[in-house]
Amino acid sequence: MDLIDLHTHTTVSDGSMLPEDLVKYAKSKGLKAIAITDHDTTDGLNGALEESKRIGFEVIPGIEISADFNPEMHILGYFPNGDYVGIAGTLADLRLKREERNPRIVNKLNELGLEITMEEVFEKSSGGVTGRPHIAKVLIEKGYVQSLEEAFDKYLACGRPAYFKKEKLTPRQCIREINAAGGLPVLAHPIYLRMEYEQLDILLEELVKKGLKGIEAYYADNTSRQTRMLLKLAEKHSLLVTGGSDFHGSFKPDIDIGVGRGNLHIPYDLLVNMKMQKGASL
Ligand code: AMP
Ligand code: ZN
Ligand code: FE
Ligand code: FE
Repeated sequence: MDLIDLHTHTTVSDGSMLPEDLVKYAKSKGLKAIAITDHDTTDGLNGALEESKRIGFEVIPGIEISADFNPEMHILGYFPNGDYVGIAGTLADLRLKREERNPRIVNKLNELGLEITMEEVFEKSSGGVTGRPHIAKVLIEKGYVQSLEEAFDKYLACGRPAYFKKEKLTPRQCIREINAAGGLPVLAHPIYLRMEYEQLDILLEELVKKGLKGIEAYYADNTSRQTRMLLKLAEKHSLLVTGGSDFHGSFKPDIDIGVGRGNLHIPYDLLVNMKMQKGASL
């Protein structure tokens, strides 16, 4: 069966592989196609698409944006037609909001007695979209915590002492902007919403009215029961089914492209359905 991965990050956000290297890596793993879905930026897509042409491997341009929702809602946007320029302005605004937040987190950590500077954080993000995983990496290197999870649990997660809310778009605005730019808006990793079937059913009904087109039913951290629930909801709401590992390279070393924690196999047919919905060439 031809397999794909529709959720990956590169060095232009909080992944550890350069876009070109990620494309080569995906091909070497025997995948048929990937989507690149960096947080709040399309900066990696040009390089990735050039590499994909050079080596003969299919790359779908994508993005991931955070919506204002408790505890956390991420919306993926896919551009199977290849044209993603329409989303650039929206993303530029979101990046500005991040730039306000990171120094506040670092200041708070300093107040808590942890010696860390924005320069060190920027070194980890090497000029890309900078966020909490980069701050976490500095904390690990300096020995303040042992792992990314510990950094979030102790300091960075919502409700922890160094958490600052980032100004975000509402779910409706995220969905509208992606649709307006010609993309397919998809609800990412629904399990992070921590909802049972009935609540999610109601939420999806609302999001579909706002223009949601798909749901990430296959995800590295799902149990098989959760995956079955999401597939059932996708069918009920006539949503496209997508799937991805949320590959971040060394930022999440337990997760590999395509396979996630070893449990994922995402069929190419899902991508065919996405292309058909957009009238893209198959
Ligand atoms: P930011 O964009 O700065 O809000 O950071 C979001 C990133 O942090 C996403 O890529 C998440 O995968 C990661 N993240 C969020 N919460 C956690 C957590 N509790 N443990 C590990 N990573 C997390
Ligand atoms: Zn990420
Ligand atoms: Fe996410
Ligand atoms: Fe992600």
